[in-house]
Amino acid sequence: MAIIEAKDIVYKYPDGTLALDRANISVEKGDMVALLGPNGAGKSTLFLHFNGILKPKSGKILLKGAPIKYDAKSLMEVRKTVGIVFQNSDDQLFAPTVKQDVAFGPLNLGLKEEEVEKRVKEALKEVGMEGFENKPPHHLSGGQKKRVAIAGILAMHPEIMVLDEPTAGLDPMGASKIMKLLYKLNKEGITIIISTHDVDLVPIYANKIFVMGKTKIVKSGTVEEVFSDI
Ligand code: ADP
Ligand code: ADP
Repeated sequence: MAIIEAKDIVYKYPDGTLALDRANISVEKGDMVALLGPNGAGKSTLFLHFNGILKPKSGKILLKGAPIKYDAKSLMEVRKTVGIVFQNSDDQLFAPTVKQDVAFGPLNLGLKEEEVEKRVKEALKEVGMEGFENKPPHHLSGGQKKRVAIAGILAMHPEIMVLDEPTAGLDPMGASKIMKLLYKLNKEGITIIISTHDVDLVPIYANKIFVMGKTKIVKSGTVEEVFSDI
């Protein structure tokens, strides 16, 4: 069964832009998915539906088979399960120190201080950022910021991690490090969904590719299937 699914999602921004028009996507538990497509196709808009930040005009998001509900309590549960890493790390990192940034999510879940401490420590270790606890996030490199943003989501113990252009703006080494980290997290059991323009790097790690055209998914399959006729 799909762990997360978008069914006929229609979304219009308040200014009238139709960003999604019956978009469908289905992701299996354990998948590492790459979502490709040109700028403005609707990838970010689709991602914002995955944890209920945006509510579709019509259609639904099914999380483990059940449509997500939009009351505050249900959304809290959804956000525990589905973590989003935004394209611009500066939108995600705002606390004075790395440690406080990573602690923000778990504190919001209402976890006890010792549990938060433990999760922050584990998450920073997982992303290779131990030793940076007391540094201000805005002094880090782009790749380091991305890893801290990922740690902040990991500390919530998500089942699904959605990342908008996680390699954008990084040098090839930094981008490769991020993909290796995501691959490791996937092997540890987290379902991963990545939007990207990086057709050289990301598909190496993905087991499934979706291609988005304007407002909807136009193609899907394995790397071989999707790239065979391009
Ligand atoms: P992608 O992530 O594939 O680049 P987006 O989801 O950001 O695509 O954008 C899809 C469409 O919605 C584009 O036409 C974009 O200009 C428009 N759009 C995105 N955000 C907004 C917004 N806040 N208000 C109005 N239109 C928007
Ligand atoms: P990356 O190579 O990971 O893409 P960036 O291009 O973001 O990194 O940053 C390049 C260098 O500039 C890094 O060594 C980083 O430490 C430094 N740097 C980035 N942002 C800031 C900042 N706000 N203040 C001080 N140094 C910064």
